[in-house]
Amino acid sequence: MSDARINLLGLTRTAMEVWLQSLGRKPFHGRQVLKWIHKHGVTDFAAMTDLAKALRARLAAEAEVRPPEVSSRQISRDGTSKWLMDLDCGQRVETVLIPDDGRTTLCVSSQVGCALDCRFCATARQGFNRNLSAAEIVGQVWIARRHLGERPLTNVVLMGMGEPLANLDNVLTALDIIQDDLAYGLSKFRVTVSTSGIVPALYRLREHSDVSLAVSLHAPDDALRDQLVPINRKYPIQELLRACRDFIAGDRRRKVTFEYVMLDGVNDSEAQARRLARLLRTLPSKVNLIPFNPFPGAPYRCTPQARIDRFREILLGAGILAVTRKTRGDDIDAACGQLVGRVQDRSRRRIAVPSLTAAP
Ligand code: SAH
Repeated sequence: MSDARINLLGLTRTAMEVWLQSLGRKPFHGRQVLKWIHKHGVTDFAAMTDLAKALRARLAAEAEVRPPEVSSRQISRDGTSKWLMDLDCGQRVETVLIPDDGRTTLCVSSQVGCALDCRFCATARQGFNRNLSAAEIVGQVWIARRHLGERPLTNVVLMGMGEPLANLDNVLTALDIIQDDLAYGLSKFRVTVSTSGIVPALYRLREHSDVSLAVSLHAPDDALRDQLVPINRKYPIQELLRACRDFIAGDRRRKVTFEYVMLDGVNDSEAQARRLARLLRTLPSKVNLIPFNPFPGAPYRCTPQARIDRFREILLGAGILAVTRKTRGDDIDAACGQLVGRVQDRSRRRIAVPSLTAAP
């Protein structure tokens, strides 16, 4: 039960060291606890056998290791699985595990619902309820790790429910833990944050983290993007692309991934492909074409395969690296944009993106 105890799942290495010091212990005790929790998947302090008994008792009195509760797990015929996670107060989010030759990718949620109201996304339909805490974000990784046992978790993508950059403080804390060698040890190339393009938060992300970036572009001009991804009215394409360029500046190995959902007759013409290629020509980038995943009441259809192929060829012909993303887990509604969980819509959409600091 939740009480005044601190949930250690949300503590970075530094925070854990400081916290142990506040209990009169040494920083290295913090590192030991971190390893027990994340590397060994232990929640019971009594099992942390290299800590003195008195310390274990103290930890049990002051703290807990409490991942979200798994309310169900569905498995797709393609091997993708989806957990429905129960949070406090009856809210739920979904987390998707995607095995793909040689890789195992976890798609993590960052908010209950989403405030951004993108037209083609089922999560948007649910409205926004609240941010996940760092412990709730890391807890999804903790659950997947324990489930996998000896099998490695190779990649984490923040592409589940919610807009990670609208919950940046908690996301930064979670990324720190996900990348820490004493926890999950995933390198910057194996952790990706996906955003609809909240420009000031992109600069802040860059300041504090070196993770990989994916940007949900979906349209090659502002008039259309204003409709599909309404945050574009605040941060139009040129501003967004400048932020992307700054994000990878100084590191030749880096690229920005642009996600582009294929909507029949909306954003998939040859002219639009050429326009997209022109936009991205000088930016080290890769385009992920995502077949639109339908959901009940969706106002769009997916572009036919032949036209997706044509769109991709035009990009490739213009020297833009482009791949068509495989749809995974659609039979269990686990594909991009199909995650819904359970949200009490508090209709905060109109005050979306609160409390962000200005770009430097
Ligand atoms: N809010 C973040 C991350 C969540 S969505 C973002 O916007 O990037 C992860 C990706 O799935 C985004 O590119 C999103 O635009 C895309 N997506 C949303 N709904 C979709 C749908 N119905 N079909 C295919 N892709 C979708």
